Amino acid sequence: MYFEPSLEFAQKLDETDKLAKYRNEFYLKQDSIYLDGNSLGLLSKRSEKSLLQSLEDWKTLGIDGWMGGAHPWFDLSEKLGQMCAPLVGSSPEEVIVSGSTTVNLHQLVATFYQPEGKRTKILADELTFPSDIYALQSQLRLRGYNPDTHLIQVKSRDGRLLEEEDIVAAMTDEIALIVLPSVLYRSGQILDMERLTKEAHNRGILIGFDACHSVGAIPHHFSQWDVDFAFWCNYKHLNGGPGSVGGLYVNRKHFGTTPGLAGWFGSRKDKQFDMIHTMTVADTAGAYQIGTPHVLSLAPLIGSFEMFAEAGIENIREKSLQLTGFLMDSIEQELGGLGFTIGNPRDDKRRGGHVSLEHEEAARICKALKENDIVPDFRAPNIIRLAPVALYTSFKDVWNSVQILKKIMVEKQYEKFSNEREVVA
Ligand SMILES: *Cc1c(COP(=O)(O)O)cnc(C)c1O
Repeated sequence: MYFEPSLEFAQKLDETDKLAKYRNEFYLKQDSIYLDGNSLGLLSKRSEKSLLQSLEDWKTLGIDGWMGGAHPWFDLSEKLGQMCAPLVGSSPEEVIVSGSTTVNLHQLVATFYQPEGKRTKILADELTFPSDIYALQSQLRLRGYNPDTHLIQVKSRDGRLLEEEDIVAAMTDEIALIVLPSVLYRSGQILDMERLTKEAHNRGILIGFDACHSVGAIPHHFSQWDVDFAFWCNYKHLNGGPGSVGGLYVNRKHFGTTPGLAGWFGSRKDKQFDMIHTMTVADTAGAYQIGTPHVLSLAPLIGSFEMFAEAGIENIREKSLQLTGFLMDSIEQELGGLGFTIGNPRDDKRRGGHVSLEHEEAARICKALKENDIVPDFRAPNIIRLAPVALYTSFKDVWNSVQILKKIMVEKQYEKFSNEREVVA
């Protein structure tokens, strides 16, 4: 699809946008354009309401909020897992909302990394999010392996993207487990999860995905693809709030596998309060919970998941592709010759929910954007991530952002800032 880069075309797209009504459900700062929903999604009125409801239940019910009130806390993680299942393409029992990305990764590796004989290594990639690498290294150390020899990181040919064939070539008979991103956090590339899963299984290797940048942005079919496990955060595209509780998926064929990091919330719900020292592990993804859920960080997700169910992930993806397509075409027309490179793949099948714009002055261009009330985010060394979000960004916002960016460049407004990242970039 070609997008005519103009204000008129943006307005026409906004008029026919089926999801436009959701914009009013979010708290958007006036006269500001938020393009950072892939780092921290904005608060919706529905999430605010479900959070306040849980506070009210605490206020009025005390301990009885576990089993009573609007959304009883005891099985809230399971309920939210059911609500999240359509977003990852799984059955309801295969998802639990629990822990955080990094904690869930630890749990899943502790559970599914079972080195045996020659198969002792873990395969990841050199572009993945640092926390994942730290977690994998520490898991290897805990098992007595040296991460320098036992963590294999597939190389990128160009520093931006990963080639599936390079990943497949690294699936040797020494690999026990593979952990890869679904969407790369910098370049926004989508990996072909179905193909990689098939290739891994053909070689007897288990495979899981870090879905932080894909859940809520693109549809998934984890069950159909036969993915072994996945994990993600709910504060990016799912708008669950800062530090919101994360999610994990475990393929039902693995139900019953003893959790590597066990705790009483992984028990079968009817057995949990028997208070005996023999654990009856839940026969769902709920088995991989550890302790008491952070209820107040779960509660905003009730409202958010309702909205996603109503809007539909296919519709969200369709608009997201149009937003980023329009953004890229506008960048090419308006910002030519100003030193920018679009670093994400162009093919719709290979790009996620954000545009990865590279520039050698990226850090200070981001500061100038913020001064102009545009909120992007910066990823070292040279990337401006721009994420127009289907539920709350308009095509006019996208057009205006590009115009402001053009003005910043033409007037060299960025020169008054230093080209260094902030502490939180
Ligand atoms: C945001 C993000 C994380 C963050 O992990 P937390 O445990 O939630 O801090 C991990 N991996 C990826 C790919 C991310 O984008």
